[in-house]
Amino acid sequence: MKVGFIGLGHMGGPMSRNVLSSGHDLLVHDIRREAAAGLEAAGATWAATPRDTAAGREVVITMLPAPPHVEQVLLGPDGLLSGLAPGSVWIDMSTSVPAVADKVRAMARDIAILDAPVAGQSIGAKAGTLQIFAGGDEEVFGRVRPLLEAMGDPERILYVGPHGSGYTVKLMLNLLWFSHLVATAEVLTIGTRAGVDLATLRRCLLASQAASTFLESDVLSVLERGDYDDSFALALACKDLGLAVDLAGAVGVPVELSAVVEQVYRRARAQYGDAGGEMLPIKLYEDLTRTPLRLPPSASP
Ligand code: NAD
Repeated sequence: MKVGFIGLGHMGGPMSRNVLSSGHDLLVHDIRREAAAGLEAAGATWAATPRDTAAGREVVITMLPAPPHVEQVLLGPDGLLSGLAPGSVWIDMSTSVPAVADKVRAMARDIAILDAPVAGQSIGAKAGTLQIFAGGDEEVFGRVRPLLEAMGDPERILYVGPHGSGYTVKLMLNLLWFSHLVATAEVLTIGTRAGVDLATLRRCLLASQAASTFLESDVLSVLERGDYDDSFALALACKDLGLAVDLAGAVGVPVELSAVVEQVYRRARAQYGDAGGEMLPIKLYEDLTRTPLRLPPSASP
């Protein structure tokens, strides 16, 4: 397939690399020219603008930070929409909301649009094992599925419903995961401060109805290595939580818990900076109570 790819960051970089190595013809663009260096060396061609990235393309993928960036790339000067040919497909894989795609759809009815955000972190992007949630026309999804399979695990590339459904599933996934993170940080800090050994506390929780994937595996990078995962920035985590809480408001659901989780994340961002890792809210509790949550080397599975 002839493919364009815009947004070559932590996720888009390795995702576009996998598109290329699956044999697709690839044009790439980013506001950071240097982000394309490795891809060009591997055979991709640089496009100077979003519009140029659409030249002769059947499909163009965007993987950008947030809705304002997507709007800029699609509808700004030399925007992608002005270059897309009738019948081509735009797939937005950013974690976002449907507002920009709705605008684009109203302006260009002959372009097919899918939202297809991903889960699986930069490790999954590199390995080509991402989970992908696609929203839009199911026939279009079927057509581009081979391209999605270059980036994701075929078993976990899911068609989830009409336009916007992919964005919603992804935002709900992150909202629940961030809620697990904050709840787990509080529980481990309280239990440890109350005198229970961290490894014992975790083992008991894992053997109970309170067990979670977060407690079993995701939290281990912090507990074993003090690694707060800076491949996903706090600024983006706050963006996701803000979009999720706004969505709740838009559909009339009061969300006391989600709003508190968002505030904890905003506090961590203020404390540790935009580029800090997504798991730094755990450090807020460690710092506040001077209680490092670390397992001794022998205690982890
Ligand atoms: P990133 O900041 O590392 O990459 C974004 C890229 O977009 C950068 O290379 C930036 O230069 C480029 N960009 C920004 N504005 C642009 C513009 N106007 N024109 C062209 N390029 C532009 O972000 P990321 O971590 O790769 O995340 C991308 C998206 O994927 C976000 O929506 C994020 O929420 C989502 N996501 C991230 C992860 C993760 O673990 N990092 C996991 C799942 C989903």
